[in-house]
This record gives sequence, C-alpha cells and structure tokens, in this order.
Amino acid sequence: MLKTGWVQGSEKAQGARRAAVIGGGIGGLLAARVLADHFEEVLLIERDHFPEGAEHRPGVAQARHLHLLLKRGLMVVERLFPGIREDLLAAGSHQVDQGADYRILYRYGMAPDKPHDLDILTFTRPLLESTIRRHLAVQPNVRFLEGFQVAGLATGDDHARVTGVRIVPRRHAAGETEEQILQADLVVDSSGRMSAAPQWLEEIGYSAPSETEVDAFWGYGTRLYEVPAGWKADWKIFLSMNRPPYQTRAGIIEPVEGGRWLVTLAGVMHDYPPTDEEGYLAFARSLASQEVYRAISQAKPVSKIIGYRRLSNRLRHYEQLSRLPQGFVLVGDSVCSVNPVYGLGMTLTSLTVEHLETSLLASRGGRDLDPLTFQKAIGKLVMGPFAMTTGEDLRWPATQGGEITLKVKVMHWYLDQVIRLIPDSPEVYLAFQKVNHMLEAPESLFRPATLFRVLKQALTPAKAPKPLAAPAAAPAAVEPRASAVSLRR
Ligand SMILES: Cc1cc2nc3c(=O)[nH]c(=O)nc-3n(C[C@H](O)[C@H](O)[C@H](O)COP(=O)(O)OP(=O)(O)OC[C@H]3O[C@@H](n4cnc5c(N)ncnc54)[C@H](O)[C@@H]3O)c2cc1C
Repeated sequence: MLKTGWVQGSEKAQGARRAAVIGGGIGGLLAARVLADHFEEVLLIERDHFPEGAEHRPGVAQARHLHLLLKRGLMVVERLFPGIREDLLAAGSHQVDQGADYRILYRYGMAPDKPHDLDILTFTRPLLESTIRRHLAVQPNVRFLEGFQVAGLATGDDHARVTGVRIVPRRHAAGETEEQILQADLVVDSSGRMSAAPQWLEEIGYSAPSETEVDAFWGYGTRLYEVPAGWKADWKIFLSMNRPPYQTRAGIIEPVEGGRWLVTLAGVMHDYPPTDEEGYLAFARSLASQEVYRAISQAKPVSKIIGYRRLSNRLRHYEQLSRLPQGFVLVGDSVCSVNPVYGLGMTLTSLTVEHLETSLLASRGGRDLDPLTFQKAIGKLVMGPFAMTTGEDLRWPATQGGEITLKVKVMHWYLDQVIRLIPDSPEVYLAFQKVNHMLEAPESLFRPATLFRVLKQALTPAKAPKPLAAPAAAPAAVEPRASAVSLRR
C-alpha cells in the first residue's frame, strides 16, 4: 500500500485502461473489486490512511455506531470476497439467526421465537472494513492510494468526458497546493454522504442534481461494553423498538468481536440519547423493554458514549439530470443515503455496486457505459428503499420534508397491520423479515398468505390497534410539518 508522499507511477501505462474509485468505504472497496475484472489497473483513492487492523479512522465517523449488514448485503459481500464469512467469524464475529437469536419488541409485542434460515453476522464496522480491505489487497491490479483527497474532476477541453481526478495530499504545508492529476478511463464516486460531486460537476460545466431530504431528527448514542462473565439470556441481539407517533425511544444491543456488546440507543423527533453516564442509563431504562438496561447496568463500559445526529434520508437526483460527462458514475451514499435506523445503507450501497458490475459486463468493461443510463437505473434501484425509509419517518409528526400522500397513508395502515400480526404469526414475521433483509420486494407482503391475515384482522374490530395518546406535553421539538425539501435545483 502506498503510504504518503507524491504518487509514484501516476502515469497510466501505455494502452492500459485504468479506473479510479473515490473513497475507500464500503462502496469503494466493493466497487474496486468489481472494476478489477475489467481494467488493467484500479486506483482506490482514500483521504484517510487505512489502519492496519479493525481500528477507527476519521473519514467514516459513523463506523463507531452499530452497523448491521442485512442478508442481501452479506450475500453480495460474500460473493465478491469468498471466504470472508469464515474470516469474520475467526476474528470474533457472531452468527445470529434472525428468528431464534434476535429478539425484537415491536409495538404490538415480541417477535416469535422460531428459527429462520436468515442468518446475520455481527461485527464492528471497522472489523468488516478491514477484513474486506485484506481480501481486496490480494487483487494484483488494485492499488490503494491513501492520504489523498480528490479535489475535483479532470476533463478534456470540451468537458465531454472525465479523464481523471485532481488529487491533493491530505496533509500539506499551508499555502502549498501540490495538486496532481491522475488519469483514468472511468471514475467512480463512492465518497459517501458528504460527496462533493455536485460541486465537481458544476466546476466542469454541468448542473448539480436536485436533492430530496426527509428528516425525522433521529439521534444515536453508542457505547461498547464488556460482556459480563457468565452472562445468560435467551437472545444474542435484543432490539426494543419505539412506537410512532409519540413514543420516541429505541435501543439495540449486539455482541461484537472481542467479547463486547455494542449498544446503540436512538431517539427520534430531537429526543437525542444523552452522552453522559447517568443520562444514558436513564434513557436505556425508559425504553419499552427493560432488557437493554438490564444488560448494560451489569456490564463494564469499555468506550466513551458517542453521539451522532446526521441521520436524515437524502437522495441526490442524478437520474433527473439531462446530461453527465462520459467516464463518471456514482454509487452508494453519494447518491442515496437513508436513515440508518432501518439498517439498509450498506446493503443498498452493495446493490448499487452490483449494478456497476452488471453494467460493466454489458458495456465491454465500461467502454460503452452511458453515465445517464447508469444513474437512471441507480435512481430506480434506490427509489423503493428510499420511499420505505422516508415513509416510515413520516409517521413522526416532527418530520421535515416528504409528503404524506394517499399511497404513504395506505402503506402506514397496511404495515401497521402486518406489524400487529407479527407476535402471533411466525409466517408473517418471516415474510416481513425477508422484505427487511431485501430478499423480497415490499410487494411480497401483499401475497395472499399475508393479505388474508391482514384483512381478517382489520375486519375484527375488537383487535383493532390501539392508537397511542398524544403525550400530555408533546416533545418540545414537535413543530409543524414542512413539505418536500428540495435543496438544490
Ligand atoms: C450512525 C450510522 C449508523 C449506520 N448504521 C448502519 C447499519 O446498521 N447498517 C447499514 O447497512 N448501514 C448503516 N449505516 C449506513 C452506512 O454507513 C452507509 O450506507 C455506507 O457506509 C455507505 O458506503 P459508502 O461507500 O457510500 O460511503 P462511506 O462508507 O461513508 O465511505 C466514504 C469514503 O470516502 C472517503 N472520502 C470522502 N471524500 C473523499 C475525497 N474527496 N477523496 C477521497 N476520499 C474521500 C471517506 O473517507 C470514506 O472512507 C449507518 C450510517 C450512520 C451514519
């Protein structure tokens, strides 16, 4: 791996095709693997220096918080990096059966305790990333360029095609620019939620995409604990859900490598978990279930409590642009970043990379890749999950952005009925989890087996869900809703 200093061998070899990936997070690592099958050289450009092992780095501040990889995402990662499951397990990851080991208190009761064939691996995000990095590093044509920040796109005189990226060393003396151009035949932006691609496009004469943002004002508070010796429970992961529209608090505990628990408490509508000892424990005790509190009140904390508040859903509409330069595409959070409470982000990112893989195969290794067609397909791919996460966030009265359309109201009603069925129906629970893990489309919940149960329940008035009363004093932050926020036009 290149560490610091000036980029050696920055010139492309004569006749060789090179791809450049911006960002070495989950999307960038997967994209580099996929590109390695089609390009003589793949440069993975990351502003951070990668740590040797499963340690944190500044570029992915979210990595300190609980990161569940859904089954569909795990399948993509395992396909691209065979043997990674074994490596994660050997490093201390836990395999969890969604039905038998993952206990969830939904708003109408506990999920059934019955094994599924849906398995999950638990790990800290740094362990996942470092394990993927190790697998990627054996690709002979992938080079990691660490400590360099992409500052813009390079083009020819007519700006019709991106010909590379402008990079600067992350640490350089004041006043020195030390900018360098790295040539590439294809540039893939995977620089995450804070991607500067809209500005980069404007700088070379293109329009920035419009954005849709929907924010229910969620906040996380996360801490690691040592699992107490002799600890016994009927769960490996426990999740206590909140209940819209007014019961704002949720919490989850999972085992991770190193004999530790990773605990994330979450609150919506500005009800942020405190980051002081006493407040954190009190928040845990106020959840609908006492289980997370019971566990952590007996355990030794082994980290600080870390807060996080940038959790809105944000979609950049590259698919609506009328033109994009050739040789430049975007994947992952740089296009669509969803509220992580639903655990979709890495899986969605991996699906955008899968689309890159398919597109490379269909375009002679990217030679005929049309960026607009590509982004339209990505827009289509992320639209359903984005509608799902924003739809759920729209249940909270303080949510800003988005619109409660008739379709959203119907989905709210129907999903509420499904969630009500969960405690008494392992079949409905499995169907629901298959959608949750992105193995089935949401429409699968309208198949006769579930639809029939929903209708039967809805027509039985005695079993109608009890509405939650508004709290005597509504959370201070409940402000009137604003309609769709489009930040850029
Ligand atoms: C608090 C929180 C909890 C989450 N929990 C979950 C979860 O449980 N499950 C789940 O699936 N998802 C979760 N997510 C979402 C998940 O983190 C993202 O969806 C995922 O990381 C997106 O991958 P990415 O590669 O697009 O971006 P990232 O993983 O964020 O990577 C972007 C990379 O680009 C680098 N970079 C940025 N700009 C530049 C530049 N100009 N030049 C060079 N490098 C650059 C950054 O340093 C970083 O390494 C969570 C997110 C948050 C905020």
